[in-house]
Amino acid sequence: MIKTVLVIAPHADDAAAFCGGQIIHFANDGWRVVMVRVTNDETDSIGLSREDTIRINTEQMHTAAKILGIQEIVELGYVTDTLGDVSRVALREKFIRLFRQHRPYAVMSFDPYAQYEPNLDHTVTAQAVEEAYWTATFDKHHPEHLAEGLQPHSVCERWYYARQLPRVTCAIDISSVLERRIDALAAHVEMMKNTLNQSRLQMATWGRRFPALDAAITSGNVRPFLSMWLRYQYAQIGAKHGMTYAEEYRVDRFGGAEALLQSESIPLPDMEDEPMHNRPWFEFP
Ligand SMILES: [Zn+2]
Repeated sequence: MIKTVLVIAPHADDAAAFCGGQIIHFANDGWRVVMVRVTNDETDSIGLSREDTIRINTEQMHTAAKILGIQEIVELGYVTDTLGDVSRVALREKFIRLFRQHRPYAVMSFDPYAQYEPNLDHTVTAQAVEEAYWTATFDKHHPEHLAEGLQPHSVCERWYYARQLPRVTCAIDISSVLERRIDALAAHVEMMKNTLNQSRLQMATWGRRFPALDAAITSGNVRPFLSMWLRYQYAQIGAKHGMTYAEEYRVDRFGGAEALLQSESIPLPDMEDEPMHNRPWFEFP
Protein backbone atom coordinates (compact mmCIF):
# COMPACT_ATOMS: atom_id res chain seq x y z
CA MET A 1 0.00 0.00 0.00
CA ILE A 2 1.36 3.42 -0.92
CA LYS A 3 2.01 5.50 2.16
CA THR A 4 1.39 9.23 2.32
CA VAL A 5 3.52 11.75 4.18
CA LEU A 6 2.10 15.20 4.80
CA VAL A 7 4.82 17.84 5.10
CA ILE A 8 3.50 20.84 7.02
CA ALA A 9 5.42 23.96 5.97
CA PRO A 10 4.47 27.38 7.37
CA HIS A 11 6.45 28.88 4.47
CA ALA A 12 7.39 27.83 0.95
CA ASP A 13 11.06 27.21 1.78
CA ASP A 14 10.68 25.34 5.08
CA ALA A 15 10.55 21.89 3.46
CA ALA A 16 13.78 22.40 1.52
CA ALA A 17 15.42 24.26 4.39
CA PHE A 18 14.61 21.95 7.30
CA CYS A 19 13.75 18.44 6.09
CA GLY A 20 14.58 18.21 2.39
CA GLY A 21 16.81 15.16 2.62
CA GLN A 22 14.23 12.92 4.27
CA ILE A 23 11.52 14.20 1.88
CA ILE A 24 13.69 13.02 -1.03
CA HIS A 25 14.14 9.65 0.72
CA PHE A 26 10.36 9.30 1.18
CA ALA A 27 9.77 10.14 -2.50
CA ASN A 28 12.51 7.73 -3.62
CA ASP A 29 10.89 5.01 -1.49
CA GLY A 30 7.64 5.46 -3.44
CA TRP A 31 5.71 7.41 -0.83
CA ARG A 32 3.12 9.98 -1.87
CA VAL A 33 4.49 13.31 -0.61
CA VAL A 34 1.99 16.13 -0.05
CA MET A 35 3.09 19.53 1.22
CA VAL A 36 0.81 21.93 3.08
CA ARG A 37 1.96 25.54 2.75
CA VAL A 38 0.28 27.55 5.49
CA THR A 39 1.13 31.14 4.45
CA ASN A 40 1.55 33.00 1.15
CA ASP A 41 5.10 34.29 1.80
CA GLU A 42 4.11 37.79 0.67
CA THR A 43 6.76 39.54 2.81
CA ASP A 44 9.70 37.26 2.01
CA SER A 45 11.78 39.07 -0.62
CA ILE A 46 13.88 42.20 -1.01
CA GLY A 47 13.09 44.90 -3.57
CA LEU A 48 9.87 43.37 -4.90
CA SER A 49 6.21 44.36 -4.44
CA ARG A 50 4.04 42.09 -2.31
CA GLU A 51 2.16 40.95 -5.44
CA ASP A 52 5.35 40.00 -7.28
CA THR A 53 6.69 38.37 -4.11
CA ILE A 54 3.66 36.07 -3.87
CA ARG A 55 3.86 35.15 -7.56
CA ILE A 56 7.61 34.56 -7.76
CA ASN A 57 7.92 32.75 -4.41
CA THR A 58 5.07 30.45 -5.46
CA GLU A 59 6.69 29.68 -8.84
CA GLN A 60 10.02 28.96 -7.18
CA MET A 61 8.29 26.77 -4.58
CA HIS A 62 6.86 24.60 -7.37
CA THR A 63 10.34 24.23 -8.88
CA ALA A 64 11.76 23.22 -5.49
CA ALA A 65 8.88 20.81 -4.85
CA LYS A 66 9.57 18.97 -8.12
CA ILE A 67 13.24 18.60 -7.14
CA LEU A 68 12.27 17.20 -3.72
CA GLY A 69 9.69 14.79 -5.18
CA ILE A 70 6.65 16.53 -3.66
CA GLN A 71 3.64 15.54 -5.76
CA GLU A 72 0.94 17.85 -4.45
CA ILE A 73 0.82 21.19 -2.65
CA VAL A 74 -2.13 22.32 -0.54
CA GLU A 75 -2.29 26.10 0.00
CA LEU A 76 -3.90 27.47 3.18
CA GLY A 77 -3.22 31.08 2.11
CA TYR A 78 -2.64 32.87 5.43
CA VAL A 79 -0.70 36.15 5.32
CA THR A 80 2.93 35.51 6.19
CA ASP A 81 4.31 36.65 9.54
CA THR A 82 0.82 37.13 11.03
CA LEU A 83 -0.01 33.64 12.33
CA GLY A 84 0.66 34.99 15.81
CA ASP A 85 -2.73 36.71 15.46
CA VAL A 86 -4.54 33.62 14.13
CA SER A 87 -6.50 31.34 16.44
CA ARG A 88 -4.63 28.08 16.88
CA VAL A 89 -7.96 26.27 17.31
CA ALA A 90 -9.13 27.66 13.95
CA LEU A 91 -5.84 26.65 12.33
CA ARG A 92 -6.10 23.23 13.97
CA GLU A 93 -9.35 22.60 12.09
CA LYS A 94 -7.49 22.97 8.77
CA PHE A 95 -5.02 20.26 9.81
CA ILE A 96 -7.73 17.96 11.19
CA ARG A 97 -9.51 18.17 7.83
CA LEU A 98 -6.28 17.48 5.92
CA PHE A 99 -5.47 14.48 8.15
CA ARG A 100 -8.95 13.09 7.51
CA GLN A 101 -8.73 13.76 3.76
CA HIS A 102 -5.21 12.52 3.05
CA ARG A 103 -5.00 9.92 5.86
CA PRO A 104 -1.20 10.25 6.14
CA TYR A 105 0.97 7.50 7.61
CA ALA A 106 3.50 10.16 8.62
CA VAL A 107 3.49 13.91 9.14
CA MET A 108 6.55 16.15 9.15
CA SER A 109 6.17 19.41 11.08
CA PHE A 110 8.10 21.91 13.19
CA ASP A 111 8.63 20.65 16.72
CA PRO A 112 6.27 22.59 19.03
CA TYR A 113 8.77 22.06 21.85
CA ALA A 114 11.76 23.33 19.84
CA GLN A 115 14.27 25.59 21.49
CA TYR A 116 15.28 29.03 20.20
CA GLU A 117 12.55 29.36 17.55
CA PRO A 118 12.11 33.07 16.72
CA ASN A 119 9.38 32.69 14.07
CA LEU A 120 5.78 32.78 15.34
CA ASP A 121 4.47 31.27 12.08
CA HIS A 122 6.58 28.21 12.90
CA THR A 123 5.53 28.05 16.56
CA VAL A 124 1.79 28.60 16.02
CA THR A 125 1.66 26.08 13.16
CA ALA A 126 3.55 23.51 15.22
CA GLN A 127 1.16 23.92 18.17
CA ALA A 128 -1.93 23.65 15.97
CA VAL A 129 -0.60 20.50 14.27
CA GLU A 130 0.25 18.98 17.65
CA GLU A 131 -3.37 19.28 18.77
CA ALA A 132 -4.69 18.11 15.41
CA TYR A 133 -2.92 14.75 15.91
CA TRP A 134 -5.30 13.71 18.65
CA THR A 135 -8.38 15.82 17.94
CA ALA A 136 -8.54 14.35 14.39
CA THR A 137 -9.45 11.03 16.02
CA PHE A 138 -12.46 12.41 17.95
CA ASP A 139 -15.92 12.03 16.44
CA LYS A 140 -17.09 15.13 18.32
CA HIS A 141 -14.43 17.43 16.88
CA HIS A 142 -15.77 18.85 13.60
CA PRO A 143 -18.64 16.45 12.98
CA GLU A 144 -19.27 18.48 9.82
CA HIS A 145 -16.25 16.69 8.34
CA LEU A 146 -17.85 13.34 9.14
CA ALA A 147 -21.14 14.50 7.58
CA GLU A 148 -19.14 15.13 4.39
CA GLY A 149 -17.99 11.50 4.44
CA LEU A 150 -14.59 11.95 6.06
CA GLN A 151 -13.55 9.61 8.88
CA PRO A 152 -11.47 10.16 12.04
CA HIS A 153 -7.80 9.44 11.45
CA SER A 154 -4.70 8.99 13.57
CA VAL A 155 -1.26 9.68 12.10
CA CYS A 156 1.19 6.84 12.86
CA GLU A 157 4.57 8.61 12.71
CA ARG A 158 5.34 12.19 13.69
CA TRP A 159 8.58 13.53 12.26
CA TYR A 160 9.52 16.73 14.07
CA TYR A 161 12.11 19.08 12.60
CA ALA A 162 13.51 22.24 14.19
CA ARG A 163 16.45 24.61 14.38
CA GLN A 164 17.18 22.98 17.73
CA LEU A 165 15.23 19.86 18.66
CA PRO A 166 14.47 19.26 22.35
CA ARG A 167 15.54 15.62 21.82
CA VAL A 168 17.02 13.81 18.82
CA THR A 169 15.73 10.28 18.22
CA CYS A 170 16.76 9.78 14.64
CA ALA A 171 19.62 10.66 12.30
CA ILE A 172 19.17 10.26 8.56
CA ASP A 173 22.12 9.88 6.18
CA ILE A 174 21.52 12.42 3.42
CA SER A 175 24.93 12.11 1.72
CA SER A 176 23.42 10.51 -1.41
CA VAL A 177 20.79 13.24 -1.83
CA LEU A 178 22.70 16.31 -0.68
CA GLU A 179 23.16 17.82 -4.16
CA ARG A 180 19.44 17.47 -4.86
CA ARG A 181 18.66 19.01 -1.49
CA ILE A 182 20.92 21.99 -2.26
CA ASP A 183 19.26 22.35 -5.70
CA ALA A 184 15.85 22.47 -4.00
CA LEU A 185 16.80 25.17 -1.51
CA ALA A 186 18.61 27.17 -4.22
CA ALA A 187 15.39 27.16 -6.28
CA HIS A 188 13.87 29.55 -3.69
CA VAL A 189 15.99 32.38 -5.10
CA GLU A 190 14.04 35.36 -3.76
CA MET A 191 13.46 33.87 -0.30
CA MET A 192 17.13 32.89 -0.03
CA LYS A 193 18.27 36.37 -1.10
CA ASN A 194 16.14 37.80 1.72
CA THR A 195 17.48 35.22 4.19
CA LEU A 196 21.06 36.01 3.23
CA ASN A 197 20.32 39.73 3.40
CA GLN A 198 19.44 39.33 7.09
CA SER A 199 22.94 37.99 7.70
CA ARG A 200 24.46 40.72 5.50
CA LEU A 201 22.75 43.45 7.56
CA GLN A 202 23.74 41.82 10.84
CA MET A 203 27.36 41.58 9.74
CA ALA A 204 27.26 45.22 8.63
CA THR A 205 26.18 46.17 12.15
CA TRP A 206 29.13 44.15 13.41
CA GLY A 207 31.37 46.01 10.94
CA ARG A 208 32.24 43.16 8.55
CA ARG A 209 31.10 41.65 5.25
CA PHE A 210 31.16 38.16 3.74
CA PRO A 211 32.13 38.50 0.06
CA ALA A 212 30.58 35.17 -1.06
CA LEU A 213 27.31 36.12 0.62
CA ASP A 214 27.29 39.57 -1.00
CA ALA A 215 27.94 37.95 -4.40
CA ALA A 216 24.99 35.57 -3.93
CA ILE A 217 22.61 38.44 -3.13
CA THR A 218 23.86 40.68 -5.93
CA SER A 219 23.98 38.04 -8.66
CA GLY A 220 20.92 36.02 -7.59
CA ASN A 221 23.03 32.88 -8.05
CA VAL A 222 22.53 31.64 -4.50
CA ARG A 223 23.55 28.02 -5.06
CA PRO A 224 27.34 28.29 -4.49
CA PHE A 225 26.82 30.01 -1.16
CA LEU A 226 24.05 27.63 -0.07
CA SER A 227 26.19 24.66 -1.06
CA MET A 228 28.98 25.88 1.21
CA TRP A 229 26.54 26.67 4.00
CA LEU A 230 24.60 23.36 3.91
CA ARG A 231 27.75 21.26 3.61
CA TYR A 232 29.15 23.00 6.68
CA GLN A 233 25.93 22.54 8.65
CA TYR A 234 25.08 18.94 7.69
CA ALA A 235 28.68 17.72 7.94
CA GLN A 236 28.68 18.83 11.59
CA ILE A 237 25.50 16.83 12.23
CA GLY A 238 26.86 13.87 10.24
CA ALA A 239 30.05 13.82 12.32
CA LYS A 240 27.95 13.24 15.46
CA HIS A 241 26.47 10.07 13.93
CA GLY A 242 29.32 8.60 11.88
CA MET A 243 27.86 9.83 8.58
CA THR A 244 29.20 12.29 6.01
CA TYR A 245 26.06 14.44 5.89
CA ALA A 246 23.00 13.89 8.10
CA GLU A 247 19.69 15.42 9.19
CA GLU A 248 18.34 14.99 12.70
CA TYR A 249 14.71 14.49 13.74
CA ARG A 250 12.59 13.71 16.73
CA VAL A 251 10.39 10.86 15.51
CA ASP A 252 7.56 9.74 17.75
CA ARG A 253 5.04 6.95 17.27
CA PHE A 254 3.68 5.40 20.45
CA GLY A 255 6.01 7.00 22.98
CA GLY A 256 6.81 4.72 25.91
CA ALA A 257 4.40 2.04 24.61
CA GLU A 258 6.39 1.41 21.39
CA ALA A 259 8.09 -1.82 22.55
CA LEU A 260 4.85 -3.28 23.97
CA LEU A 261 2.94 -2.53 20.78
CA GLN A 262 5.68 -4.03 18.62
CA SER A 263 5.71 -7.30 20.59
CA GLU A 264 1.96 -7.72 21.21
CA SER A 265 0.27 -6.35 18.06
CA ILE A 266 -0.74 -8.50 15.10
CA PRO A 267 -1.35 -7.45 11.48
CA LEU A 268 -4.77 -6.33 10.31
CA PRO A 269 -6.28 -8.76 7.79
CA ASP A 270 -6.31 -6.27 4.92
CA MET A 271 -2.84 -4.81 5.50
CA GLU A 272 0.65 -5.96 4.56
CA ASP A 273 2.60 -7.13 7.57
CA GLU A 274 5.38 -4.60 7.67
CA PRO A 275 8.17 -4.77 10.21
CA MET A 276 8.35 -1.62 12.27
CA HIS A 277 12.04 -0.99 11.81
CA ASN A 278 12.42 -1.42 8.09
CA ARG A 279 13.57 2.19 7.81
CA PRO A 280 16.74 3.61 9.31
CA TRP A 281 15.43 5.40 12.32
CA PHE A 282 16.49 4.75 15.82
CA GLU A 283 16.34 6.06 19.34
CA PHE A 284 19.30 7.29 21.28
CA PRO A 285 19.61 6.16 24.89
ZN1 LIG B 1 9.64 29.27 7.71
